[in-house]
Amino acid sequence: MSRAQYLYRLQAIDSQIDETNQYLARIKANLGKTKALLNAEAKAKTTAQSLREVKTRLTNFEFELKGLSDKIKTQEKRLYGGKNMTAKEAGNLQEEVASLKRRYATIEEQLLEIMIATEETETIDNETQATLVEIQATWKDEQAKLTLLQRQFEQKLVSLKEQRSIAASKINASDMAEYNQLRAKKNRRAVTGVKEGACLACNVSISNSKLQRTRAGNDLNYCGTCGRILYVL
Ligand SMILES: [Zn+2]
Repeated sequence: MSRAQYLYRLQAIDSQIDETNQYLARIKANLGKTKALLNAEAKAKTTAQSLREVKTRLTNFEFELKGLSDKIKTQEKRLYGGKNMTAKEAGNLQEEVASLKRRYATIEEQLLEIMIATEETETIDNETQATLVEIQATWKDEQAKLTLLQRQFEQKLVSLKEQRSIAASKINASDMAEYNQLRAKKNRRAVTGVKEGACLACNVSISNSKLQRTRAGNDLNYCGTCGRILYVL
């Protein structure tokens, strides 16, 4: 194999390494929580919190209503219990019972509103929790696929690096330095194939004398136009 051919082979492996690294970077960017999942989580958290709040209000109102009911019963028992009390005392007690009953009616009305609100909040919360579960399932599925792909590309990278070290061992230090320098300058393409007498990188024809020297492969020859190392395919 000629010096240019060894470099051409190395470049083919390097291109695959670049490509694999690009895939891995893209996979890495897509690993982790997605915007859709984060949104669904935030929404589910908010509706669950609203539901807790409305349920607490409901419990408090039920508790207050029960307290009022007990108090009304107690005071009515006193009022109609036949115990001796003055007309003023009876009048006061009657007024108190009436006031308690008014309060009871108000709370009862509010309680009804809270019950309706609780039901509505519960429906909304059920929906957002179900949506979250759905999005989580899709997300987990996607993450599993991405993780599998990531592992496959990582394995491929290991094997490519092994191939590269074998290919690189055949190349002398000055050719390697030349390759690295050109690759950095020429858009990661240091070596170009030559087909039907033309450079495949820039499409410009190579002179016959240069083609002959390139075919002989004793030294490195360069495309006069794009400056890349020539390798006749
Ligand atoms: Zn060229």
